[in-house]
Amino acid sequence: NPMKDRITDIGPPHYWQMFPPIIRRNYGKWLYHEILEPGVLMHVSETGEKVYTVRVGQPRLVTAENIREICDIADKYCDGYVRWTTRNAVEFMVDSEEKMKALKEDLESRKHVGGSYKFPVGGTGASITGIVHTQGWFHCHTPATDASGMVKAVHDVLFDYFKNMNLPAKLRVSMACCLNMCGAVHCSDIALLGYHRKPPMIDDEVLDKVCEIPLVVAACPLGAIRPVKVELEDGTKVNSVRVNEQRCMFCGNCYTMCMATPLADKEGDGVSILAGGKISNRISHPKFSKVVVPILPNEPPRWPSVCKTVVQIVEAYAKDARKYERLGDWAERIGWERFFEKTGLPFTWHILDDYRLAYDTYRTTTQFKF
Ligand code: SF4
Ligand code: SF4
Repeated sequence: NPMKDRITDIGPPHYWQMFPPIIRRNYGKWLYHEILEPGVLMHVSETGEKVYTVRVGQPRLVTAENIREICDIADKYCDGYVRWTTRNAVEFMVDSEEKMKALKEDLESRKHVGGSYKFPVGGTGASITGIVHTQGWFHCHTPATDASGMVKAVHDVLFDYFKNMNLPAKLRVSMACCLNMCGAVHCSDIALLGYHRKPPMIDDEVLDKVCEIPLVVAACPLGAIRPVKVELEDGTKVNSVRVNEQRCMFCGNCYTMCMATPLADKEGDGVSILAGGKISNRISHPKFSKVVVPILPNEPPRWPSVCKTVVQIVEAYAKDARKYERLGDWAERIGWERFFEKTGLPFTWHILDDYRLAYDTYRTTTQFKF
């Protein structure tokens, strides 16, 4: 047991201890891999050994019971080894084709009451993989919307694209619940972004009691916060802050420092959609995603407007793009004007931002001063 006698405050154990024996034996010796069918990979080593990986999707927030079931499957087929990918898929690895077939059959036979898959196999090649996302309402303090809930709703409407590999190329979807974007939405094929549209609401009475004012002033990336003395209704004079609202970009950094500057707002908060980013340099250079829908309403628990818009984009891309063309490559080949025509999305002045011009137009730089 690699965790035995572990001292917990020295960081994670070395990854070597977590490798299945066949992976350790063939470390650095892998020759190539193939996708045998949707959700099934085969890696071949120069020693002749092969590893078969079965990838399954996950419903984001999972129960302890679900994790126990995953561990039981890993015990039964994979000598207790299992791995989670960075896109929250679960991968089971075995060392023969026979074991892979039995494992896959078992995984796909496990269903929820009602018949939906517990462990859907897919997410490889020209498909939609698991959606990378951020913490959302459960774990963070600045979200403009939820992350796990929206991702589950969007993944459900894209499920056929997860199970099959019939898109022109891989399509990466990501989601961040505020514009601090710890979900890497800046370079995804389709990115969902929770967006605040109002500046923080300052609670003078609370702020004076809880806030380290120099810290909250320094926390603002746009220098929009200044310290002030204010008079409360009862005549008491207190220390507080004011926000230059023209300069604020609604990032919530100040709220990270001071709980008396909340900016969550039921009407103002919504969801922006960006598209066309990627980190690969195949066909064209890596690119940032661009805003294609400035704001959609925040509609938990199933976010119908967000789901409908994402499906519109994916269907237009699936129908029109050439094989191997990522979404941004397709949009650039046909021209962004035609991207809007083909997807049916309205073009508005909010979408004029262009990262290529960040050096000579104020619209894309934080340096512009009002
Ligand atoms: Fe928090 Fe923003 Fe990250 Fe969401 S994207 S988890 S709100 S910092
Ligand atoms: Fe500054 Fe961001 Fe706070 Fe606005 S929300 S005042 S930009 S830290």
